[in-house]
Amino acid sequence: MANITEISWENFEALSLDEKKPYLQRGGGDTMPYHTLFAQQFDRDLLERLCALSNRIRFINKSKEGALYLKSVLAHKRAMLYFSQPSSRTFLSHLAACQLLGITTGSVRDAATSSEFKGESREDSIRTFSSYFDMIIMRSPEQGLAEKMAWELSNASRPVPILNAGSGKDQHPTQALLDIYTLVRSFEEKGGLDGRTVVFCGDLLRGRTVRSLSYLLTNFKDVKQIFVAPPALRVPDDVVASLAAKGVSYEITEDLKAAVKVADAVYMTRIQDEWDESKGESARIDTSRFKFGAEELALLGPDGAIMHPLPRRDEIATCCDRDPRAMYWRQMRNGMWIRAALIASTFGLEKEIMNCGY
Ligand code: ASP
Repeated sequence: MANITEISWENFEALSLDEKKPYLQRGGGDTMPYHTLFAQQFDRDLLERLCALSNRIRFINKSKEGALYLKSVLAHKRAMLYFSQPSSRTFLSHLAACQLLGITTGSVRDAATSSEFKGESREDSIRTFSSYFDMIIMRSPEQGLAEKMAWELSNASRPVPILNAGSGKDQHPTQALLDIYTLVRSFEEKGGLDGRTVVFCGDLLRGRTVRSLSYLLTNFKDVKQIFVAPPALRVPDDVVASLAAKGVSYEITEDLKAAVKVADAVYMTRIQDEWDESKGESARIDTSRFKFGAEELALLGPDGAIMHPLPRRDEIATCCDRDPRAMYWRQMRNGMWIRAALIASTFGLEKEIMNCGY
């Protein structure tokens, strides 16, 4: 078995994502991640297990006895939520997921209130958290930081798991998990997710949720992916290359209406202008054709799903909000359930919760 304590950081960093995967697992025969860093760690079996555990937690939590049981399972653990980039849903749903499982939490949401303000490096800050907490849930503008810290903390005297809650423009694995959970639930009684067509629209270049979800979708059979974006915000080459390598059918277009007509799900995203290299760069891009409104709603099939990782600006008109196909509100709550399932699984509680008497 690959052991992360037996490989140098330089050699680990140089591995491909697929090669890194076994180093990040719980071990002892369980392929579930110990550190959750990128979407490529999840295969179909793990996705199905997490969806099943989410459903189970959701059900158990309905009764007071069940909720109290859940609150007892990790009451001996503490988690640190370290978010050095803005967040509403990811922060709150992780917090709520911890609360569901009885985990005590601490948080830093603004480096200006921590010793980083005094010049401490992020690495040193995270090492500090590992002295007091049993898990670190972190969001950072730095692409490789979560991975570096996973290696560092595995090799420290007190190893604790890292859960990547958004790493720069790169990945947002737990968002992708909740997106998959939402899609699986949406199509559960309509023949499943295999064979579906998923349309991504908006800032596909800098949207980390797109990279993570695009990858997770490759675990399903014959799911076609259509990428709709202005030329300046087109889906990055690495995403396309990974689809091509896996023989996944995809299309790149600027015609949202045509894509919606054949879509089972439409995943809208906002313009990620926080990454602009010069002031007003994004505002100069014509994004008017990349919005979902009444006309697109009329073109979407009756079983279609409209999704968005949120926050939304004007990519989805508010007239869509009450339509039964609008899944973006459900995505939020699904995020809490699947994050609870992931955290419970990280601590090895999957079987116990699946088999409990509630
Ligand atoms: N909330 C998502 C993220 O953190 C999407 C977004 O911000 O547009 O990446």
